[in-house]
Amino acid sequence: MTTAERPRLAVVGAGPAGLAGALAAAARGVQVTLVDAADQPGGQFYRQPAPGLGARRPQALHHQWRTFERLRDGLERHRAAGLITHLADHHVWCVEREPGSGALSVHALRGPAQEQGVTVRADAVLLATGGYERVLPFPGWTLPGVVTAGGAQAMLKGGLALPGRTAVVAGTGPLLLPVATGLAAAGVRVAALVESADPAALLPRARALAARPGKLAEGAGYAARLLRYGVRVLPRHTVLEAHGTDRLEAVTLASLGRNGRTRPGSARRIACDTLAVGHGMLPHTDLAGTLGCTLSGTDVRVDDEQRTDVPGVWAAGETTGVGGAALALAEGHIAGRSVAARLGGTAPDPRRWAAAARARARQRAFFAALDAVYAPPAAWADAVPDDTVVCRCEEVTAGAVRTAAGPLGASDPRAVKLLTRAGMGWCQGRVCAPAVAALTGCPLVPERRPFARPVPLGVLAALPEPPPG
Ligand SMILES: Cc1cc2nc3c(=O)[nH]c(=O)nc-3n(C[C@H](O)[C@H](O)[C@H](O)COP(=O)(O)OP(=O)(O)OC[C@H]3O[C@@H](n4cnc5c(N)ncnc54)[C@H](O)[C@@H]3O)c2cc1C
Repeated sequence: MTTAERPRLAVVGAGPAGLAGALAAAARGVQVTLVDAADQPGGQFYRQPAPGLGARRPQALHHQWRTFERLRDGLERHRAAGLITHLADHHVWCVEREPGSGALSVHALRGPAQEQGVTVRADAVLLATGGYERVLPFPGWTLPGVVTAGGAQAMLKGGLALPGRTAVVAGTGPLLLPVATGLAAAGVRVAALVESADPAALLPRARALAARPGKLAEGAGYAARLLRYGVRVLPRHTVLEAHGTDRLEAVTLASLGRNGRTRPGSARRIACDTLAVGHGMLPHTDLAGTLGCTLSGTDVRVDDEQRTDVPGVWAAGETTGVGGAALALAEGHIAGRSVAARLGGTAPDPRRWAAAARARARQRAFFAALDAVYAPPAAWADAVPDDTVVCRCEEVTAGAVRTAAGPLGASDPRAVKLLTRAGMGWCQGRVCAPAVAALTGCPLVPERRPFARPVPLGVLAALPEPPPG
């Protein structure tokens, strides 16, 4: 089969899910274009140091490096064979169906300036755009020195830079463990790991957890490293406030009661120049939303083959629900095989990916058990003072959001946005949406936008006219 005759798949995202999907499809004769915003493959989990930094042992900052080597070598092999084209540093702003032909167009902006438009045409699209961190506001969270937990890790893995000398790692979720141990191993003094959940709540879920002994061993490894680096672990604690004038100088912590509220008299202050704070992840669903894919809560809904309910569109990895790199790999593999069979005109035989399907089921059960435990404190929104900025793009305070939802009668985040401008700025609500939803008592519903990111007018003007009719 020549290149022109092969069915075409565009994969958006070169993290574990996208890489696994691209390799599985290419190995079965599909012509793949892998489009990714980062300048190197790997996604969040296998984030690479910038090449200019000349890192001699990038694997020192990673675990499961062998898996990445296998993916990276597979990508190289398929690239050399002309089966995969990797478009790095391409930011996809929209995927749409071409009127008439039924093909899918993936529109991207190339390069750091993001001013040059590129369109990839394909018969099918695999959305593997991953997730992003949930950020919750508290007094002082906008001070320099307060970063997201993943942001601190990205500085380390991608920039080989330390965010500071003394850090507190706080919030909730398993991500705090690699962040705290990674910072400590790199020489940062980690003064405390502050986890709002109660790890004892994992015990009733022991069966689902025990089904993944590898993950339990990983957890035990983190516990041993925290001990070795002398990191104080404070479960059922939360950050009340970050202090400083020009930058972070200290944080106040407090312990949490069973009702999710802070215990009176438990507040204590810890000096630090870095607060790495994260409250779990949310899936990236912008592109799926534009295409009209049905969401299930905040996740893209998929069937057993990882197909969305929009013909020709598959999704895998954290965009379908947050569940870690191993789940992303299994889902990507299944999606790639399904795409190859479907584009080849045959119904796939799920027995061929039975091992990946079993891994997917185990990982989903494991992360469902974790999810039930690692959630922000029940009453966190009540503790946000009125003068705390919630939407930092538009500088909207918690008080303004409460006024919109109370006396002004806004009954959903969209109405709050129209009244206050919360969510109207550069990030388009990606950062403040969870906080606005919690402050107004509304469920968090991802917004559907025509564009996933800002697009220069010149790029829009240069798009070809759709055929008449
Ligand atoms: C900040 C952060 C840190 C993490 N750290 C850890 C950790 O230490 N340990 C751990 O076990 N798990 C960690 N995770 C979770 C882990 O990274 C994920 O489980 C795993 O990477 C999911 O794989 P994925 O392929 O679904 O998504 P990702 O690895 O997130 O890959 C998604 C890819 O899609 C690309 N992309 C997204 N949108 C677009 C677009 N519009 N246009 C073009 N490209 C796009 C991104 O550039 C990225 O390369 C972290 C997650 C995050 C968000």
